Amino acid sequence: MAWWLASAFFFWLVLRELRAPSHRLHPEPVYPPYLLLVLALAILCAWQPLARWRFEARLARVASDLADGRRASVHCNTLFDTMLDPNMLYAGHANIETGRIVLQKPWCSRLRAYLSHPASASDVERYSLHLFTHEAMHVRGERDEARTDCQAMQRHVRAAGLLGVPAELARRDVRDYFRSVFLARNRPGTLSTPYYSPLCGPGAEWDEHLPDAPWP
Ligand SMILES: [Zn+2]
Repeated sequence: MAWWLASAFFFWLVLRELRAPSHRLHPEPVYPPYLLLVLALAILCAWQPLARWRFEARLARVASDLADGRRASVHCNTLFDTMLDPNMLYAGHANIETGRIVLQKPWCSRLRAYLSHPASASDVERYSLHLFTHEAMHVRGERDEARTDCQAMQRHVRAAGLLGVPAELARRDVRDYFRSVFLARNRPGTLSTPYYSPLCGPGAEWDEHLPDAPWP
């Protein structure tokens, strides 16, 4: 909202400059450098929310594809949105009924960073794709967290492909996630977590035998 307000302000300055001289604060003719400066600032301020909107629309199309055609929308929370979100402690959340996925600040930025350089992404940037796929599985209709995570891992490579990430990188990342994160939730001494189940694994009940499974 702040970006839109700033953009509107600079556009107003442009229009004021272009109005008849009698309406300007100064009587001189239009001063091109000033006009170009405020026009550039107006476009620059509008670019931020427009870029986010395009990214959200792109993610929504992929989420809907992953959710077997169910309608999905994606919202990247700003810092202000996150502070007002009752689920602010979760990196993301999804509403099964409406198909609305919300990613908290700064997870959309991390996902965007991951998509721009998947080969050299940091651990949290790589995890952002799994988070997004996990939320898409909720939209697909799954409420159980462990099963949702299991379904997301089995569609990680597909999600990556839909977003333009090379399959070999996604395959490496999701296998690493399965081994180092998912299975680690069952290590002795670890508190029980709703995000783990022994039903998820090679040949287990939740193995959907999809291509590019996260296990060998
Ligand atoms: Zn979840």
